[in-house]
Amino acid sequence: VAEIGTPDRSVVTTCAYCGVGCTFRAEMRGEQLVRMVPWKDGKANRGHSCVKGRFAWGYANHQERILNPMIRESIDQPWREVSWEEAFTHAASEIRRIQAKYGRESVGGITSSRCTNEETFLVQKLIRAGFGNNNVDTCARVCHSPTGYGLKTTFGTSAGTQDFDSVMQADVILIIGANPTDGHPVFASRMKRRLRQGAKLIVIDPRRTDIVRSPHIEAAHHLALRPGTNVAVLTAMAHVIVTEGLAAEEFVRERCDWDEYSHWAEFVSQSRNSPEALEPVTMVNPAELREAARLYATGGNAAIYYGLGVTEHSQGSSTVMAIANLAMATGNIGREGVGVNPLRGQNNVQGACDMGSFPHELSGYRHVSDASARALFESEWGVAIDPEPGLRIPNMLDAAVEGTFKALYVQGEDILQSDPNTKHVSAGLAAMECVIVHDLFLNETANYAHIFLPGSTFLEKDGTFTNAERRIQPVRKVMTPMNGLADWEVTQGLANALGLDWNYSHPSQIMDEIARLTPSFTGVSFERLDAMGSIQWPANEAAPDGTPVMHIEGFVRGKGKFVVTDYIPTDEKTGPRFPLLLTTGRILSQYNVGAQTRRTDNVVWHAEDVLEIHPIDAEDRGLRDGDWARLASRAGETTLRILVTDRVAPGVVYTTFHHPTTQANVITTDYSDWATNCPEYKVTAVQVAASNGP
Ligand code: SF4
Repeated sequence: VAEIGTPDRSVVTTCAYCGVGCTFRAEMRGEQLVRMVPWKDGKANRGHSCVKGRFAWGYANHQERILNPMIRESIDQPWREVSWEEAFTHAASEIRRIQAKYGRESVGGITSSRCTNEETFLVQKLIRAGFGNNNVDTCARVCHSPTGYGLKTTFGTSAGTQDFDSVMQADVILIIGANPTDGHPVFASRMKRRLRQGAKLIVIDPRRTDIVRSPHIEAAHHLALRPGTNVAVLTAMAHVIVTEGLAAEEFVRERCDWDEYSHWAEFVSQSRNSPEALEPVTMVNPAELREAARLYATGGNAAIYYGLGVTEHSQGSSTVMAIANLAMATGNIGREGVGVNPLRGQNNVQGACDMGSFPHELSGYRHVSDASARALFESEWGVAIDPEPGLRIPNMLDAAVEGTFKALYVQGEDILQSDPNTKHVSAGLAAMECVIVHDLFLNETANYAHIFLPGSTFLEKDGTFTNAERRIQPVRKVMTPMNGLADWEVTQGLANALGLDWNYSHPSQIMDEIARLTPSFTGVSFERLDAMGSIQWPANEAAPDGTPVMHIEGFVRGKGKFVVTDYIPTDEKTGPRFPLLLTTGRILSQYNVGAQTRRTDNVVWHAEDVLEIHPIDAEDRGLRDGDWARLASRAGETTLRILVTDRVAPGVVYTTFHHPTTQANVITTDYSDWATNCPEYKVTAVQVAASNGP
């Protein structure tokens, strides 16, 4: 402040980091951001924030930002700055050339959960209306796609059931596969407040996360399961609930399909699904698991919160459905203080999914094979929509390696760093004839790009983000885009160069189109958001002011659906060469691959990724705190410093993935969720050995 001077204006907007969706007052002096002040009226944060939202915005004017479009003939040639017009014309002619040579399906695009709803909506519209196929996907593919599949199958809609305030009515909080203190810090504070008031805590996680034991909080049960066995633990809990007569049968009879419940109850009751029978698989003490199941079923309002430790597994979708089964079986759904709540990672991953960024779904989660939904879009857009689902990200990369997929538009994603099996991603990108990267920085993926379109930060545009509680919140332009165009204008430029005739002059017009085409958004507009501050979808005629808690009267799909989820071990096995299991997570001060936090100088952001290892495993290998170690899997190897700690159990190691030098995804494998292809980031068989360093 001393350098820039005191602010002379302020704008209320929404944080662009995590799915909590804190709102801030951006205090400005002219075009300079002076500080971000947590907004006391923010429904998601109520005046609180974490260190990232408050201080990590220096990347917005970092010297490495690219402000002019660039093209190059091949990836070994130098970049050449060009005008926006030349960049759009060149990109469009490359797309059309490639489609003429290799077919309409040879091109596709990836939208970003970092961008606004309006921008994401436009990218999927560009692919469907401009490229003429459904080859559009989003980074939710690698994080919460199993949430979409699992909750839609069981409840009928792909979203969390509660608002954040609901946690203050919970008597039991069950956290599985999530580390809210680091990943969702502002919501974690609210959870902790409720725990300090006396709510009981159950944590299911291979690692002793901060919330298991923090000031004035001690989890009633920490089930430190073997990585990859979530379904077995949840099945064993269901076994206890059903065989001990703790199920809420009256609720199930009224709200769910009874025949499906009976079939599921018969399955979980089998003796092979008891905590004792499954102990060799889960490594969880059966007596403690039984107590945890009893507490969840009988402790009053019980709410489940989960994260990527649930979804990023070969049984990710099964785990989400196993969680939904537990909530329905105990009647913990459809009122305050209960429910099933995915803690969304990216600021707008919920919104990106809502906006039709999947190859099989139009906005509002309507399948592309649904003729009446397609007809709505076809009449609005004046084009035919392909009724066949398109390619997912891994399918695009496979097809590229096979030679049938040749051009990709990537908005706001660094797939080379964030997607699994880096060697395969780079092989796919290298095999393409045209890679268009639309981003703030020349990221790792841009090493394979032929066209670079500079992106804009959340400070430089209007729009909306949707947080983990389905809350649509305004993002407001604080400063003029440094590159001259907001991201939605870049996509519009590309669309018009391809021959479409888009004339949006403000993102509010895009939201009006979303509302016309999406039944759960018909009551959403910029005017209403300005008046109300935020709206939780569904917001329509049935719920004009939005919906904080879902499934109160009945499930969106009608009757709740129980799905039998048998535990199937992952194909990623430990053995003599790779005897340990690696799992991954995040730290509070960094964000994912660190593209923004690592480019912010105003706080100590630069803590390196380390490998946590249990004292027994460290001693076996002659490793001490701070030593370098070689971490190797069947896919590749990297080098990390060691942190010796009993936060992880013997046989388990853990690291974060914020720095490109860590190359965590050189280690991860190709295994993925059976239903959605979400990568199995959380289970990799590895060996750790002493090393002299990188
Ligand atoms: Fe931003 Fe999430 Fe931190 Fe809130 S908790 S300030 S949304 S990063």
